[in-house]
Amino acid sequence: MSKIVKSDFNSEAVAGFTHRTAMEEAARCLLCIDAPCSQGCPAGTDPGKFIRSIRFRNVKGAAETIRENNILGGTCARVCPYDRLCEEFCSRCGIDKPIQIGKLQRYAIEQEEAFNMQILKAPAEKKAGKVACVGAGPASLACASELAKAGYNVTIFEREAEAGGVLTYGIVPTRLPKKVVDHDIKMVKDLGVAFEFNKEVKEADLTDFDAVFVGVGLWGAKIPDIKGKDLKNVYAAVDFLKQARTLEDKFAPGENVIVVGGGDVAVDCAVSAKLAGAKNVRIVYRRTIEEAPANMTEFEYALSLGIGITTEMAPAELVGTDKVEFAMFDGRDGVSGAKFKADAVVFAIGQGPEAVDGFAAVATDDKGSVKVSDQFETNNEKVFAAGDIVNGGKTVVEAVAEGKAAAASIMAYLEKKGVK
Ligand SMILES: Cc1cc2nc3c(=O)[nH]c(=O)nc-3n(C[C@H](O)[C@H](O)[C@H](O)COP(=O)(O)OP(=O)(O)OC[C@H]3O[C@@H](n4cnc5c(N)ncnc54)[C@H](O)[C@@H]3O)c2cc1C
Ligand code: SF4
Repeated sequence: MSKIVKSDFNSEAVAGFTHRTAMEEAARCLLCIDAPCSQGCPAGTDPGKFIRSIRFRNVKGAAETIRENNILGGTCARVCPYDRLCEEFCSRCGIDKPIQIGKLQRYAIEQEEAFNMQILKAPAEKKAGKVACVGAGPASLACASELAKAGYNVTIFEREAEAGGVLTYGIVPTRLPKKVVDHDIKMVKDLGVAFEFNKEVKEADLTDFDAVFVGVGLWGAKIPDIKGKDLKNVYAAVDFLKQARTLEDKFAPGENVIVVGGGDVAVDCAVSAKLAGAKNVRIVYRRTIEEAPANMTEFEYALSLGIGITTEMAPAELVGTDKVEFAMFDGRDGVSGAKFKADAVVFAIGQGPEAVDGFAAVATDDKGSVKVSDQFETNNEKVFAAGDIVNGGKTVVEAVAEGKAAAASIMAYLEKKGVK
């Protein structure tokens, strides 16, 4: 279990390793020849290799192994569900407990920043090919970095004022500090990728480019069709979190905040409300805590802040005159259950896609996700897509993995077209 430290809105909730504890943890690694941990990373990071480097005091070598493979190495060290990925594959699971791979990755990247290690460099020779990436979330950042490393000219168009997508406008900074995201994004900029902010791509903006990558994520609000859903101060999680990130000190969600959902997004909403000064914050989830998708450490952190958790209740109705005043819930058995006072109700029950046909002219499925081949090609030969807008919403590391694979496809397409 990671140690939880006292936190305000901008300090990280979980402590990292010191030099000594990192070396102690690396010393537990069995240096397995087949390194099963390496099969557990969707983005292809090789933990066996970077832990070996740390163990032999070659921290720069460790940072190189991570960064060359995953441009968002610092971010993934914080938000990856390690227990379901590399750590689950670790040979030490069969002996005592897995190596804390995520925290060792965090340590190596913290050293990279502290000692200003220059690991990635823009190539000296540029190619003629021009690629546009739409959206500056993990999928686009990974795709753009791979293309820039190969010498292509890449421009990322982002409708918000900053890059990062969910990393900047969603995940709570106590879990993922902004400076960690900014440091990862600096690596992308250092590779020569150009950014155009406050630029929502709509119609025909992209005709000048040889290829287009669509990594726009899921920003469509989802609120259940219950009585009172249109009252004031009823939010979808993405809108609530974006307000919390952009308004910062001015964000005032009210005294009593109810968050509906059981995933990391719900916990992020509840923590954001609490750290913004809400007195009573409660997460209400329709199943048991064991069934909830959020990481247990995140629930523990929420509890440590005084956030309440009610399980096996589903929203029935929101009551109020012009704005929400109470949230009514029914028990799992359908029997009328609880009534909670509420100045704001936040639904963290998933996000949906927004329309992309205006600018990308690509086929989508019945849910609005972009349809792609296993090479991330759409039905429009010059348009590729990956990340949440394709997979329906998964994880940061999967968006990175898909963005990298899409970059390989784009390069193959440009070669085929003779764009050097
Ligand atoms: C609150 C929250 C918490 C999460 N916690 C975790 C976690 O702990 N661990 C984990 O692995 N995953 C987590 N996830 C999931 C993870 O963040 C996503 O899977 C990942 O961000 C997907 O990356 P993406 O690049 O596909 O999309 P996004 O991160 O959504 O980025 C898309 C970008 O495109 C921009 N955009 C959209 N339309 C346009 C347009 N027309 N023109 C220009 N720009 C546009 C958006 O503004 C955004 O910046 C969480 C998600 C949320 C919402
Ligand atoms: S599986 Fe575990 S013990 Fe083996 S190399 Fe990977 S981290 Fe070390």
